[in-house]
Amino acid sequence: MRIYPVFIPHAGCPHRCLFCAQDRSISQSVVADFKSVTNFLEEVLPQQGDGEIAFYGGTFSLLPSIQQDQYLTIAGRFVASGQVAGIRISTRPDALDDRCIARLRISGVTTVEIGCQSFSESVLTASGRGHTASDSISAVRRCLKAGLQVGVQLMPGLPGGDAEEALMSLRQALELKPSFVRIYPTVVIDGTVLADFWKSGGYQPWTLDEAVDLCADMLLLCRQVEMPVIRLGLQRDPQLEENLLAGPYHPAFGQLVRSRLWRRALYHAGSHGKQIYVNPNDLSDVMGHRNENRDWLKRTRPAVCVIADKAVFRGFLRMSDREVSLIDLSAQGGHYD
Ligand code: SF4
Repeated sequence: MRIYPVFIPHAGCPHRCLFCAQDRSISQSVVADFKSVTNFLEEVLPQQGDGEIAFYGGTFSLLPSIQQDQYLTIAGRFVASGQVAGIRISTRPDALDDRCIARLRISGVTTVEIGCQSFSESVLTASGRGHTASDSISAVRRCLKAGLQVGVQLMPGLPGGDAEEALMSLRQALELKPSFVRIYPTVVIDGTVLADFWKSGGYQPWTLDEAVDLCADMLLLCRQVEMPVIRLGLQRDPQLEENLLAGPYHPAFGQLVRSRLWRRALYHAGSHGKQIYVNPNDLSDVMGHRNENRDWLKRTRPAVCVIADKAVFRGFLRMSDREVSLIDLSAQGGHYD
């Protein structure tokens, strides 16, 4: 689904999480006024479309009611004219009481992205989130019950978290059966409390390779239960890149993760035949960012070659004797250099 983002950095938010510096992570650091939101949407929206206008970067449901109404009225006009199909907001788990959910629903909101980030109480506390895991569970359940599409946002690598915690948090999220998840590993941005911790040696972010490997495990878990992952890693932004101090940021993070799954599958597929066929639309991820998987194959299994064949279903590999899904092959385990 096409998303038309309107950024309202930090607007409505009563907190300052350890890792957050909205004004330094996105180029649009000023909260958009109503006139410029209207102008922006008039410019970017198609005549007819099935996308959603999304209010990102703040805690929408804690904005003053009058401001929420104004934003939703503007967006609602474009829904009424058929230029988009719905309205999306992002918010905190503890900013979604029943009254608020009902209000959002009546005002035409179709999707809520909830910043759960972790389901570990100790990680939430260490990250200064100011809400509990039960707040998140309750918010997801009540939004789903109200008929909203619900996205769960997760941040592996927060202070006090490790790989086990990240996988536990994902499993908890999947148990809630949201509509989709978004996963972005923690990075250190200048001007945050986390940056001070990092500078004093009190916080060590994951390396890019560790984050890619863990997110490949997370992506696999999601694919096994057919849970859509709408994004892996932070959106590329010059402002973010300028203020990034440390951590597993990469502008093509999503592809690195998808390719890591393919690499695991290729490792096992290479034992079944020298020629491996994949759908042409998968080839870019199979070969990897800057052909890193192709180079890895050359190094570790020089006799194996990958061939594009549109007769192969997407997400599958055909070897001499059979066709197997990426999910089944990559689930056989192993982390390979
Ligand atoms: S709740 Fe969201 S907007 Fe507010 S400080 Fe935390 S991450 Fe930033």
